[in-house]
Amino acid sequence: MGRNKSRLVVLSGAGISAESGLGTFRDKGGLWDQYDINEVATPEAWERNPELVLDFYNKRRELVIKAEPNPAHLALAELEKHYDVNIVTQNIDDLHERAGSKNILHLHGEILKAQCSYDPTEVIDINGAHLKLGDLSSNGYQLRPHVVWFGEPVPLMFDAEKIVSEADIFVVVGTSLNVYPAANLLYTCKKFCKKYIVDLNELSNVKFNNLTQFQGKATERVPELVDELIKNPIIPTTL
Ligand code: NAD
Repeated sequence: MGRNKSRLVVLSGAGISAESGLGTFRDKGGLWDQYDINEVATPEAWERNPELVLDFYNKRRELVIKAEPNPAHLALAELEKHYDVNIVTQNIDDLHERAGSKNILHLHGEILKAQCSYDPTEVIDINGAHLKLGDLSSNGYQLRPHVVWFGEPVPLMFDAEKIVSEADIFVVVGTSLNVYPAANLLYTCKKFCKKYIVDLNELSNVKFNNLTQFQGKATERVPELVDELIKNPIIPTTL
């Protein structure tokens, strides 16, 4: 018996949360602009100056807590009534969760959690709390933000590839597709998987069959795409 709901996978990046007030990586004047990535988001930075790293993520956590999901996050949550939806996000914020999406894989970690700096499998909820030097895991090691830094392996990459490889529809929102290995996920799709990219910029380096680009703001173009996918349902494909 065939599946009655098509599998729809979303890959989201910083651009989907930009209109919620969380600056993207490459935004001028944003938080990332005030810091050198190598000084705050690498294992070497953590070795050199853990206090600066904690301070950077404490500020980002404050901004995430104040932010609200926008119409793009909400429209994607609405899709779950019509499709079997999985969200693979590069974002460390929790705006997809707060919008009501259920199946969310955080490829690059979650800012509202901390992990043991010795055993990365020990992850705890810290919600709104600031992390400080001296905050320890249950086995006595310093806690660090539960985020994947540049130069670190992406532990959930294999799970993400499996999810994307089963998609009938793949929707990419607000990612420059510059950060690897996440950018490789487009190549994992089935041949006849329908692909959509929503971004402020036209991503001219991406050439695929079955690809439609929705250029513009995520808060406008994602709800439009969602409406279209609801009005004209896409049937499951085995290829
Ligand atoms: P990126 O900054 O490389 O690219 C953002 C993309 O979003 C760009 O292509 C840009 O054109 C597009 N964009 C910006 N504003 C938009 C809008 N309003 N509507 C539609 N598109 C818009 O981000 P990335 O590809 O996600 O990679 C950056 C890395 O930084 C990721 O690992 C991500 O985890 C991290 N990051 C996360 C957050 C967050 O959690 N909210 C914020 C900044 C950076």
